[in-house]
Amino acid sequence: MDLKLTEEEQKFREDFRTWLKENLPKEPLTGRSEDDPNYWNQLRGWQKKLAEGGWAGVSWPDEFGGRGATPIEEALYLEELAVCDAPERAGVIGEGLVGPTIIAEGSQKQKEFFLPRILDGTDIWCQGFSEPDSGSDVASLSTKAVLDGEHYVVNGQKIWTSFAHMADWCLLLVRTDPNAPKHKGISCLLVDMKSEGLSVRPLRQMSGDAGFNEMFFSDVRVPATNLLGQLNEGWKITITALMNERANLGSGLYVGFKKTLNELIERSKTIRRNGSPATKDPINRQKIAQAYLELEILKLNSNRALSQITNNATPGPEGSILKLYWSEFNQRLVQSAMEILGEQAQLKDFDQGKWIYRYLRSRGNTIEAGTSEIQRNIIAQRVLGLPRSY
Ligand SMILES: Cc1cc2nc3c(=O)[nH]c(=O)nc-3n(C[C@H](O)[C@H](O)[C@H](O)COP(=O)(O)OP(=O)(O)OC[C@H]3O[C@@H](n4cnc5c(N)ncnc54)[C@H](O)[C@@H]3O)c2cc1C
Repeated sequence: MDLKLTEEEQKFREDFRTWLKENLPKEPLTGRSEDDPNYWNQLRGWQKKLAEGGWAGVSWPDEFGGRGATPIEEALYLEELAVCDAPERAGVIGEGLVGPTIIAEGSQKQKEFFLPRILDGTDIWCQGFSEPDSGSDVASLSTKAVLDGEHYVVNGQKIWTSFAHMADWCLLLVRTDPNAPKHKGISCLLVDMKSEGLSVRPLRQMSGDAGFNEMFFSDVRVPATNLLGQLNEGWKITITALMNERANLGSGLYVGFKKTLNELIERSKTIRRNGSPATKDPINRQKIAQAYLELEILKLNSNRALSQITNNATPGPEGSILKLYWSEFNQRLVQSAMEILGEQAQLKDFDQGKWIYRYLRSRGNTIEAGTSEIQRNIIAQRVLGLPRSY
């Protein structure tokens, strides 16, 4: 693992830094909430700006509007965005998960139509995989699609679909052969969220946001040309998409967590617990030092995953090590923050409610993109070569 940046990598970072200095929104976005349409319009605007500057889909090949950035360059890109507190990217599912899957499996027409619209924020995507009875074991899904002339007719229900309430399109997994073994009868459809018969019901999380949803499909007609890849071979696409998701979710997180830790250190100096600053308490000091150490381990783990992706060209099971580590680290970090800052950190008015929001939101980290138990199974079987336990 060579951690020194090459000249090209340094230039890549400098170019992006310069662009960001000129183009970053001068004011923070307003109405920062996962369910505020006005906030989403601002995010679409930011996505468009990134695309106009050539800074969207950086890891996509040039021919599809990207920059062909290497995994290391992509990590630098995400780091720079985090360092300057850039707005989140509305296209994160489209750019990180759907786009690469369409590039790998899509028809020429699908590439021409969908890819530019992902890059410039015209289309926001969601990922319709989980169902009420199929989460970890997503291959047991039962939403079905039946070919009727030139359309697939879809019936069933999805759940926990992030951004479905704002999305224009959905990467949807459906069962197309109910008689085949469960991994063999799945296909992948690209579904217009405005389709008749498709309804979306937001679910409010304990953090207060309504960022994910239930989706109900009642005789939804999807053009057969919107089948992605081959009929009944959707499982391969699912694996590609999930590996991209795990690899992407981990990148650039170090900077975000570092900011949280630095804020915690500064806040601990000013807040008083038992008559003196929180930082005087030896237990609090240990918790902060522990978080610092674990964060540096996260950085090393990220570098290792990056180096493996660089060597293997596609994300592999090592993404699971990173996913497991960052999600559990974040929960420990915000748990420590709540303990150090005390009961008042639970109030919405304390530091604009950011500590309680972080604490509550972090609970989902070990569930989204595959639970910790599932990541451990992947590491046991595919990294360590242990036998399956069931
Ligand atoms: C914030 C958030 C955003 C999400 N966004 C999306 C999205 O956009 N699209 C989407 O499709 N889904 C999304 N999900 C759903 C997520 O992928 C599922 O919740 C997750 O895969 C777990 O599935 P489940 O909830 O059905 O739990 P289950 O699979 O029912 O698991 C229940 C418990 O059993 C454990 N378990 C299950 N199987 C095993 C096993 N084989 N070995 C050991 N333990 C096991 C699990 O670890 C868990 O603790 C999101 C979830 C969250 C929290």
